[in-house]
Amino acid sequence: MDTASSVRPISSPTGTTPEAKLALRPLCIDSAHITGGWWADRQRQISEVSIPDGRRQLDEAGNLDNFRIAAGELDGEIRGPVFADSDVYKWLEAAAWEYGRQPDEDLLADQLEITRLVAAAQEDDGYVNTVIQIRGDRYRNPARDHEMYCAGHLFQAAVAQSRATGHDELLDVAVRVADHLVRTFGPGKREDVDGHPVVEMGLVELYRQTGRTDYLDLARYFVEARGHGLSAKYDGNLTYLSDRVPVREATTVEGHAVRAVYLAAGAADVAVETHDDELIEVLGRQYTAMTDAKQYVTGGLGARWEGEAFGDPYELPADRAYAETCAGIGAAQWAWRMLLATGEARYADQIELLLLNAVMPGISLHGDEYFYVNTLHLRDGAEADNERSAAGGRHRWFDCACCPPNVMRTVAQLGGYLATSTDDGIQLQQYAPSTITAALGGGELTVKVDTDYPWNGSVRVTVVAAPGGEVELALRVPAWAEGATVDGAAVRAGDYARVRREFQPGDVVQLELPFAASVVHPHPRVDAVRGSVALRLGPLVYAVEQADQPAGVVLDDVRVDPAVAIGSEHRPELLGGVNVLTIPATAGGEQVTLTAIPYFAWANRGVGPMRVWLPAA
Ligand SMILES: [Zn+2]
Repeated sequence: MDTASSVRPISSPTGTTPEAKLALRPLCIDSAHITGGWWADRQRQISEVSIPDGRRQLDEAGNLDNFRIAAGELDGEIRGPVFADSDVYKWLEAAAWEYGRQPDEDLLADQLEITRLVAAAQEDDGYVNTVIQIRGDRYRNPARDHEMYCAGHLFQAAVAQSRATGHDELLDVAVRVADHLVRTFGPGKREDVDGHPVVEMGLVELYRQTGRTDYLDLARYFVEARGHGLSAKYDGNLTYLSDRVPVREATTVEGHAVRAVYLAAGAADVAVETHDDELIEVLGRQYTAMTDAKQYVTGGLGARWEGEAFGDPYELPADRAYAETCAGIGAAQWAWRMLLATGEARYADQIELLLLNAVMPGISLHGDEYFYVNTLHLRDGAEADNERSAAGGRHRWFDCACCPPNVMRTVAQLGGYLATSTDDGIQLQQYAPSTITAALGGGELTVKVDTDYPWNGSVRVTVVAAPGGEVELALRVPAWAEGATVDGAAVRAGDYARVRREFQPGDVVQLELPFAASVVHPHPRVDAVRGSVALRLGPLVYAVEQADQPAGVVLDDVRVDPAVAIGSEHRPELLGGVNVLTIPATAGGEQVTLTAIPYFAWANRGVGPMRVWLPAA
């Protein structure tokens, strides 16, 4: 199809339209590059290790064979869960963003070969879902079967491929699927919602890419139709399925954590494209309720293994935390959309917390092993009672492999999270060595960012090119950074420091964020960790892992004194180079010094006892 006439500003991690009601706009996809430092290392591993390995895993696990079978190119049995196709789409999305970051013709050829398979499996009326096609029971149970969920991931992958590679082959498939959904679902047609949200985000992105307003209308229908019990006729658990309370009436998050945050992110997409301020306000209150009472100190979401669900307020056990990697990713997507809608720095703080402490713990430092569940406490003698138990260590892949390709697509598109723009300025949202360009009303503003973040808080921003006239450079000052300065002047934490002037190439703005180790006290209502403290330094939450402790220390028996000074030191040889913290403690009657590492880095030297919350003496 010809999208040239309707193409929207390309951007990542979301697009936008000129009509969208946004406080801040996303940058074009090729406008923000991470050029070095910790995140660049992660992107390199995703590129060199995770994406190629993921491709092999999709072959071995049968996901790609399912497409070959549905296309009539192979005889065989379905393998994998009902949503197996979505892992392929998430991999395709990751590969597309990665190609956009760093073009590689072999990677493009791989994408196009898999795209050809998807197209070959697609039926004449646009439907494609290989497991259901092979089973032959289309839309028998939308609450359970993930057909629109898979379509949503297909849409996201197709948009990524189009924006990042310039190829529209997957977009052609996606448009035929979306047209099929428009013909099938909605008022006066089939009135159903999928058991797992994500199609809402996907449809809005497809609208942004194609200009097709019927896709936006269908996304709005799927958002508004939820919470009216449409899933009840399929014997679905309405809380689990995010179908108990209308989105507009919900005051908090509940049920399956990934479903809940994906739905909220999709609702935010619909809201900004339909100028629905009331919906944005409601979503903001839900976000606050989540962070106040249903989020772990790491940013992790989902306290219950049963139903992979949010618990009651303040039900946040460290040792049985679920905190699925995908829930952290979905919440970052929600926070990103709220950031664009409102311009509130707290959402960028959330993205930082989530990416560093709830998402990246889900992938090994080498890039080929994963946690699905991110516990905050592993006891001495813990047994793996489930494939997902931390006690079993990291895994190369999972039967339900939602998390690995989700991490890949997130890290590959991370440049898009770094900054936003307005008509007269750039807002630096996340800090990494990078170059960032935005087209402002008066011309292009380009800045270069130099920093050792997340290992220290000095951020040097050099103007490379500036339009004539005054423009604004806004730097996020995280809420944890009390005492921050910009060019020596004190600035407020939890807000943006705004420097407005006529910039010249070579001008420098220097942000200093104090990196002092601190203790975090839990909310007094969280009985599970009452009397404990967690350690943090800068944006990172810390964990005490057995491997770093003196011989004989049993982590289950430690007590720390939160009033004593915490030591901090950069250890370039440890875990790829990290800051460690040290804190005096007693263990079994002995005085010892505990060493803490960034939580994201745990379980990279085998798996053993670990705790984020430390009982205070
Ligand atoms: Zn997952």
